[in-house]
Amino acid sequence: MPQLLHIAIIGGGAAGFFAAIEAKRNFPHADITIFEKNSKVLAKVEITGGGRCNLTNSFDEISDLKQAYPRGHKLMKRLFKRFDYQHAFDWFEENGVPLVTQEDQCVFPQTQDSHSIINCLVNTAKRLGVKIQCNHQLTAITELEDERLLLDFK
Ligand SMILES: Cc1cc2nc3c(=O)[nH]c(=O)nc-3n(C[C@H](O)[C@H](O)[C@H](O)COP(=O)(O)OP(=O)(O)OC[C@H]3O[C@@H](n4cnc5c(N)ncnc54)[C@H](O)[C@@H]3O)c2cc1C
Repeated sequence: MPQLLHIAIIGGGAAGFFAAIEAKRNFPHADITIFEKNSKVLAKVEITGGGRCNLTNSFDEISDLKQAYPRGHKLMKRLFKRFDYQHAFDWFEENGVPLVTQEDQCVFPQTQDSHSIINCLVNTAKRLGVKIQCNHQLTAITELEDERLLLDFK
């Protein structure tokens, strides 16, 4: 019988939730858990964009990535080949969050409330069967002889 794939995502921020959701979509039978050290997840997302969550930009007025990312434009160029602002826009709309693009090209949820993004990430993860464990701070990772990883939490 094939061994069950266990995936531990450390940190229940935007990156952790997105990684967990996409991992579960790619490996539906995997057992995936997000471990968050604090008592609540996505705390930073809640305060982004003054509580409205400016989740991306249309890039209509940005012709050169250097303009937007003066110190990281090369990395962003590589990353955008895999997943760019249009992918981000489509991802949230496909996952049930209607978006609006302001005159200044910043993109927000139509509700103008970051909780729409939080609810989308949490509900999508839960619906797919991702487990969420708060109050779990990773303190150590030990590689076992059979190459499995042992995670210690406090
Ligand atoms: C005031 C403010 C406004 C912002 N506005 C915007 C905006 O409008 N638009 C935008 O795109 N970005 C904005 N940002 C930036 C955005 O919030 C971050 O880029 C994004 O939230 C980072 O997500 P992350 O998942 O990488 O990291 P985090 O959100 O920091 O998530 C990491 C998580 O890991 C947990 N963690 C850390 N160590 C451990 C451990 N050992 N064990 C378990 N859990 C652990 C942390 O508690 C945290 O929950 C803003 C940031 C701030 C502070």
